[in-house]
Amino acid sequence: MSFKNILYKRLMKYAAVDTRSDPDSSTYPSSKNQLVLAKMLVKELKDIGVRKAGMDKYGYVTGEIPATMEGKRPVLGFLAHMDTSPDAPGKGVKPRLHRKYGGGKIVINKKLGVILTPSNCPELPGRKGEDIVTASGDTLLGADNKAGLAVIMTAAEHLIKHQEIGHGRIRIGFTPDEEVGRGVKYFDVKKFGADIAYTFDGDVAGTIEEETFNADGLKIRVTGKSVHPGTAKNAMANAVRIAADIVASWPENRLPETTERRDGFVMFNSIEGSIEKAELSGIVREHDLARLKELEKHLAAIVAEKKIKYPLAAIELEFTEQYRNMGAVISKHPEVMANLVSAVKKAGLIPHIKPVRGGTDGARLSFMGLPCPNVFTGGYNYHGRYEWVSLDGMEKSMQVLINLAREWAK
Ligand SMILES: [Zn+2]
Repeated sequence: MSFKNILYKRLMKYAAVDTRSDPDSSTYPSSKNQLVLAKMLVKELKDIGVRKAGMDKYGYVTGEIPATMEGKRPVLGFLAHMDTSPDAPGKGVKPRLHRKYGGGKIVINKKLGVILTPSNCPELPGRKGEDIVTASGDTLLGADNKAGLAVIMTAAEHLIKHQEIGHGRIRIGFTPDEEVGRGVKYFDVKKFGADIAYTFDGDVAGTIEEETFNADGLKIRVTGKSVHPGTAKNAMANAVRIAADIVASWPENRLPETTERRDGFVMFNSIEGSIEKAELSGIVREHDLARLKELEKHLAAIVAEKKIKYPLAAIELEFTEQYRNMGAVISKHPEVMANLVSAVKKAGLIPHIKPVRGGTDGARLSFMGLPCPNVFTGGYNYHGRYEWVSLDGMEKSMQVLINLAREWAK
């Protein structure tokens, strides 16, 4: 059986388990079905000959491929997450294989009008001739990150079968709850025992990521003054209007919907309140830490101005740190990216280093002492009904993993 067929079979098997994580749950992992998949993965790791395969009480699945060469080398870790996004339906996923994509549109579901076209998916024409997998229009596919699970599992199987491939000790980790931002909350970096790791949780073939956003949360609390509207002149402070004024005062060219690449932004994502009290929440994102602080200063200046404009109200602004750009850690270990770049080239691709406009589990892991860039898996349009993955891209991803094992053995 070809690698693509094996990868497809695995993807189908994992996609059949609804592993959406749940942001409102207080358990860990946040949904029970993740443990169903975790157990399946443990069994499969054992079946293909991975050593020390097991699951801990949090649902972290780990295993090991012993070194095939003598001598001391860095221990490599390969990671993917088992949960899928809670932002789209994820029960009863039925993958559909569109062999040898011939260009043009791909009808995922005619009745529901879910159709991939070069205009709603500019990456599509570049994948001509490849085998493409979509869901069936009523759910997400879950290639994020089940493509990563399939890639790591299939590469592990290949490495175990081919003892002639020289490499050091390799650790495998499958984690829950990435999509709700708690993926590595209980992850024991020391116990995992890797020196360097790579998450296989990226997208377009060839793309590798060493930088994430710096991320802070923000809260603005407005305390107004409620007075009968008939006698409110010079006596009322309307928290609803003040909160809206703050939102409207933020520059339009510093919003997620108006920025791309390396431009940072502030997004207000919730506003709640009445005349007496209003609360605004949001996020601040920027790759450069100094510029993140500038965005925050700018917002603080707007708030200061509103305090003067509305002397009867009280306004408080608070930022909380969420995560930091892993580039700061990874750049201290240049061989981590150098080996990845050469692994991608040896897979016949042009490496495209792209800053992530978001976070990854690798960002937190990097700051926990495990430098951890992110590698493509060949998927696109994550978190929705238009999600798809190229089996050719998955095969390339798998080659990159095997090449990485080789590169680090040099
Ligand atoms: Zn993911």
